[in-house]
Amino acid sequence: MDNILEKPVSKQFSKELPADKIEENFTRQVNEACFSFADTRVPTNPSLVHFSSELLADLNVKINNNSEFVRVMSGAIPFKDFKSYAMCYGGHQFGHWAGQLGDGRAINIAEFEFNKVNWQFQLKGAGPTPYSRRGDGLAVLRSSIREYLCSEAMHHLGVPTTRALSLVKTGDLVTRDILYNGNPENEQGAIVCRASPSFIRFGSFEIFTSRKDIKNLQKLADYTINHHYSYLGTPSKKTYIQFFKEVANRTREMIIHWQRVGFVHGVMNTDNMSILGLTIDYGPYGWLENFDPGWTPNTTDSQYRRYRFGNQASVALWNLNQLANALYPLIEQVEPLQKILSEFRTSYLIDYHKMMADKLGLYQLNKIPKQFLKDLETNLTKSEIDYTFFFRELSDNSNQVEEDFWAIIEKTSYLNLKALHPHKEGWTTWFSHYVNLFIKEGIDVTERENKMKAVNPKFVLRNYMAQLAIDDAEKGDYNLLNELYQLLLKPYDDQPKMNKWYAKRPDWAKHKVGCSMLSCSS
Ligand code: AMP
Ligand code: MG
Repeated sequence: MDNILEKPVSKQFSKELPADKIEENFTRQVNEACFSFADTRVPTNPSLVHFSSELLADLNVKINNNSEFVRVMSGAIPFKDFKSYAMCYGGHQFGHWAGQLGDGRAINIAEFEFNKVNWQFQLKGAGPTPYSRRGDGLAVLRSSIREYLCSEAMHHLGVPTTRALSLVKTGDLVTRDILYNGNPENEQGAIVCRASPSFIRFGSFEIFTSRKDIKNLQKLADYTINHHYSYLGTPSKKTYIQFFKEVANRTREMIIHWQRVGFVHGVMNTDNMSILGLTIDYGPYGWLENFDPGWTPNTTDSQYRRYRFGNQASVALWNLNQLANALYPLIEQVEPLQKILSEFRTSYLIDYHKMMADKLGLYQLNKIPKQFLKDLETNLTKSEIDYTFFFRELSDNSNQVEEDFWAIIEKTSYLNLKALHPHKEGWTTWFSHYVNLFIKEGIDVTERENKMKAVNPKFVLRNYMAQLAIDDAEKGDYNLLNELYQLLLKPYDDQPKMNKWYAKRPDWAKHKVGCSMLSCSS
């Protein structure tokens, strides 16, 4: 097994795509380039917080020398033979074109080929780049823990995502105004090393089209197809259409997974949409606790709730529309793009129906009326039922009788018994319908339970759990962080010793910053 620090780098992205001709590191508009070379900032006193043994194992590499690993993963020294760079992209933020954005605080420090697939490794928070605008290029421990734990947790939940290799503290202080209310504070600086076969985003294409730079738009599209969608064949007008269709499919599958596990991204701007359909850029994300399609964890979005749980598919479609506009100059036909966009809506509804049926342990889809699922959602919302807890309890009692079912409702609701009582009738009607459906299916109870448990996680990274790990880590104690990391490696396993994490959000967390409300400040 290779030591990752000695493995030869590949430079696929930086060799094949156009580089910014200017190499000095100052804020600017970068034209006719996919990236700009930029050195990482040297941290004062880097130290390791955690690394992902699982990602190392997945990539079939190891670490020999911890102190050299920390120096590389904190940007103190570069990877051998690699000139680091920040990527250029634009994006629509909250529905408005924002122009050039780019990696304002991410720097790619290596590319490697693993099993014929190229991977990019990037440090988030390793100093300013030409894309930093007014930002400092840094990240704090709080948000880095959230990104590190969640991206690995999502991977183990089976949700397409970028990965995280390591988390280090820089030993430097970073000033942030968490609530944007004029109370800036010094926080500990940190860096996550993210890894992905590609960090190309919808916005990477949009920036070229917005500048009418069709030559480079085509270079980027051809590169993406040749390396990441090579099964589509040689790039041509027809292939670009197929490519768009594939991106739409992967995006749809990703959103279905988010809805299944109750994940709310929080900032689905087009610069945060991966061209590979991976979950990317973990900022003010959150996990649905009491079921509420209108919920968003992002305080910056609290007025319009554009990125609320129940709107993620519509926003994905809106974002795909922007990608279609960006690819149009290569295709010059509206109809095939429009067809793909309208298919997204229909296919999404079919997939969503199937996913919810799987969560319920129902498999004869044609027998499940849409209204039945709607009634479930209405009941879950009105009774303020914890999404993860409810479906897992349901999986555990897959041969319920009505009293058992009502016990689940009582146990998983955030309402007190008195407030819950008026909703009992609605649940009773729904439950009798449910029992009829699964009796007709005639599936073996154990088989059904196993299938349900494979789609209904027992453990997710609830916002308060991440916050507890952050509170300890800020004091230098990483035990809880490590415990949660281990717990979330097997989110579908029963892990009875870990039952303290199998519970509703505690009351104290309901309105605490970091547990229910998050801003983009990170
Ligand atoms: P995000 O909301 O994290 O996706 O970031 C949106 C844009 O702002 C991206 O171009 C980021 O690189 C940039 N950005 C966010 N935070 C910082 C920061 N502290 N310094 C520089 N750029 C930043
Ligand atoms: Mg981003």
